[in-house]
Parts: sequence; structure tokens; C-alpha cells
Amino acid sequence: MRLTEVAPQVYAATGRAVNWTILKDGDDLTLIDAGYPGDLADVRTSLAEVGGRLRAVLVTHAHVDHIGGLPGLLATYDVPVYTSAREAAHARREFLEQAGPTDVARIAWRPRSWPWIRHLLTAGALDDVSVPRAEAFPEPLEVPGRPVPVATPGHTSGHTAYLLPGAKALVTGDALVTGHPLSGDVGPQRIASFFHHDVAVAEQALDILAEVDATVILPGHGPVHHGSAAAAVAAARAR
Ligand SMILES: [Zn+2]
Repeated sequence: MRLTEVAPQVYAATGRAVNWTILKDGDDLTLIDAGYPGDLADVRTSLAEVGGRLRAVLVTHAHVDHIGGLPGLLATYDVPVYTSAREAAHARREFLEQAGPTDVARIAWRPRSWPWIRHLLTAGALDDVSVPRAEAFPEPLEVPGRPVPVATPGHTSGHTAYLLPGAKALVTGDALVTGHPLSGDVGPQRIASFFHHDVAVAEQALDILAEVDATVILPGHGPVHHGSAAAAVAAARAR
């Protein structure tokens, strides 16, 4: 796990195959996403390295690589977990919009996918993860760092990005990424379409992100990207 302060009080954590973000506000912390189940120790380490008291967890979307660390984390932190109303239901596993073993089998012929598939097996990707305490954003959303939710459905029906207006930083989840174990390229890009619940709607989410006033992109997968959201979306679409 690598931890980088990409903007004042905004920390990007890079796990083995997925990222999460920590916002610091005085002594208080907000965690956005929590990796695979196997990333739990790294999530705890990242919170300790930033230092402070965890007050809230936000979720971009409820795939196992973004909420996997939460059941373990919430066993020791009594904090709320917020996301959109639709995604909160997804996190509670009232329904599931996630690529499954058959989708993975379809790409398993590609040698590039083999290390990633091996990682899935050790990271707990097949675990049944749910977050019963996930709930819809309160109005107003007053959590450390003052992130502003940006509804970006498509990857999942309730996928949410988060803008940090002061830092002009945008946490894009999987609506826009800059790399993936299945991708040979680094730079703004769409995640492989079989991960999307609705590809057409995910394409519209890129239009939404392009309008956001941000100059630092913190994606769910791949390195932090410095550049405007509009240019990042344009670069992803130029591929
Ligand atoms: Zn992901």
C-alpha cells in the first residue's frame, strides 16, 4: 500500500489492485472506499499513517473491491457508511450488480488476466460481502473534508463520485479509471465494459464528470492523474 497526499488533506491510498481515499479535517477523517477483503490490514495502516479519528465512510459503489474491507473495519469503528440511496441498497445486498465468475471466465484465456485472477482469489473477491449499516446521504452531508457527491450511475445504478471543491480533487471510483490489472495502459480510460452494469449510462456518467471543476483525479484503479476532469474524459474517449 502506498499513501500520497495529493492535495492538502487529501490522501490517495494505492492498494495492490484497487485504491481508496482518506480526507483529513483537523483530527477527523473520512474514508472513501475500503478495498478488497484482503486489503483490510492496508486500510487500517493507511488510516493510522494519516492519523486522526475516523468519523465516516463514503462508498463510490458497492463492488467487492471497494467495500471488501468494511465489515472488518466496522467491527472496530462505530461510524456511519453513506452513499446514494440506490447504492446503499446495493451495499446492503438487497440486489447485486457485479461481474461474476462467468464474466471472469470469459476473459481467462488472456494471459494478462492471469495475475489478476490469482489476485482475486487471494484478495477475497469471492467473499459474500455486505454492509448492513450502509445508508443514503443525510442532507446536508457534513463529514470531514466536506466532499460533494456527484451522481455518476452506470458502472452501478447508484455509483457516486466525490468532489473536494477546495482541493479541486475528484474521486471518480470506477466511472473513470487510469489503469487496471486487465489494461496494459496507464492514463485516463474506461474500465473494461463487462464490469459495467449499464454501459450506455456509464458513458453518460463521463459527460457528467467532464463538467466537474477538478484538476486532480483519484480513480478507483490506476495512478492519480493531474489534469482537468474534462481533459481526462476526452483522453479516455480518444482511446
Ligand atoms: Zn473497482
